[in-house]
Amino acid sequence: MTLTRADMAALDAADPLARHRDAFDLPDDIIYLDGNSLGAMPRAARTRLAHVLDAEWRTGLIRSWRGPTGWMALPRKVGDAIAGLIGAAPGEVIVADSTSVNLFKLLAAALAMNPGRTTILSEPDNFPTDLYIAEGLARLVGPAARLKIVPRAQLAGAIDSDTAVLTMTHVDYRTAEILDMAALTRAAQAKGALVLWDLSHSAGAVPVDLNGSGADLAVGCGYKFLNGGPGAPAYLFVARRHQDRFVQPLSGWLGHGAPFAFETGYRPASGIARALCGTPPVLSLAALDEGVQTVVAAGMPALRAKSMALTQRFIDLAAQECPELVLASPRDSTRRGSQVSFHHSQAERVMEALIATGVIGDFRTPDVLRFGLAPLYVRFADLWDAVARLKGALSRL
Ligand SMILES: *Cc1c(COP(=O)(O)O)cnc(C)c1O
Repeated sequence: MTLTRADMAALDAADPLARHRDAFDLPDDIIYLDGNSLGAMPRAARTRLAHVLDAEWRTGLIRSWRGPTGWMALPRKVGDAIAGLIGAAPGEVIVADSTSVNLFKLLAAALAMNPGRTTILSEPDNFPTDLYIAEGLARLVGPAARLKIVPRAQLAGAIDSDTAVLTMTHVDYRTAEILDMAALTRAAQAKGALVLWDLSHSAGAVPVDLNGSGADLAVGCGYKFLNGGPGAPAYLFVARRHQDRFVQPLSGWLGHGAPFAFETGYRPASGIARALCGTPPVLSLAALDEGVQTVVAAGMPALRAKSMALTQRFIDLAAQECPELVLASPRDSTRRGSQVSFHHSQAERVMEALIATGVIGDFRTPDVLRFGLAPLYVRFADLWDAVARLKGALSRL
C-alpha cells in the first residue's frame, strides 16, 4: 500500500501530542530533524531567562542564590525532574558540568570503588568523548587503570575479574540501536564490575529504568532530547546504595559538606551533592529546567509511542520514495531510539543539499545520513515533506 501525504496528515490529526509542538518556537520554513544534536527552543526558555536576568540577577543580585527556590537549589531540583524520566529516585540525580566532565568524575569514582581492579571496559562504537575521557583518565592514573575496547557483540564475554567498570552509551549515536541495559548490567555485576551508562541519546526519547535495571552510575546530556539549549549542563546519577562510598576526584567546594564554612580540608557532602564541583551556570540551568519540563509535560510513555510511530513511518516512506538508501538503524522499533539513519556513499553531499532545502538532519562519518525525530515537535507531515526533498536531493546528485 502506497503511503501519501494525506495519510501523514491524518496521523497528525489523531496525534495526542500534537499540541506540544506549540511549546516550541520553531521557524516556519524549517523541518527540524536534528533534535538529537540540539533540541528546539522552548518558548518558556525566553520568558524564564528574561525573569532570571531582570528579577533574579538585576534586582535580586547575590540574594538570588539563597532559599528553597534560589539558584543554589537548581542543580538538585532539575536533577530530581530528570530522575523521573530515567527511572531514578529523587536524590539520585544532579545537574552539573558537561557530560564529558561527569564521565571523568564517575569513571574515576568507579575505579576507587572497585579497588584492585584496573580495567575500564568499553566498545569502539561508543561515543568518542566517552572513549577519549576514559583514555585520558587511564593515562593520568598510570598502571592502576587501563582502557580496554572490545566489539559490542563481545562485551559481555570480555568482563572479567579485572573489570572495574563497564561503560556504554545506551542508545548508539550513529544507528539509534538500543542496548540491553538490564542484561549488560547483570552480566557486569555478576563479575563484580560496576556499570556506567551514558544516557545522552536516551533521556527524553526512550524510556530508561536505571533502578529497575540495577544500574550503578549514569551520565547524560541536557541539550539534546531534553531541549536545554546550546551547552546546557549535563546530569549524573549515582545509585543510592553507592552514595556513601562514592568519592569523585574533582573535589570542589560545592561538593563539600559545608561549602560556606570555608574549612581548610575537603569532606564530601552527604548524598548526591558530593558529585558537584563548582558554581553552577545559572542561566543555562534555568533554560534546562524549562527544557526538561517540556518532556515531563508530555510523559515518557506517550513520547515513546509517538517516537516509534515516527521512526517507523520515516523508514517506510524512505523505502517507498528513496529505495537506494540503506537503513543503518534497527528494523525492530523496540530496539530503535528516536532517530533513523541511512547509509549512502555520498551522504555528506546529500545532507548538504537537503539542508539547503530547509530540512535539517546531519551527517556522521563515514557515510551516514542521520535524522532525529523528536516526538515533542516533529509532525508526521514533516516526514513526508522531508522525504520528498530527500528524493529530490538524491535525484540531483
Ligand atoms: C552528545 C553526547 C555527549 C556530549 O558530551 P559533551 O561533554 O556535552 O560535549 C557525550 N556522550 C554522548 C553519548 C553523546 O551523545
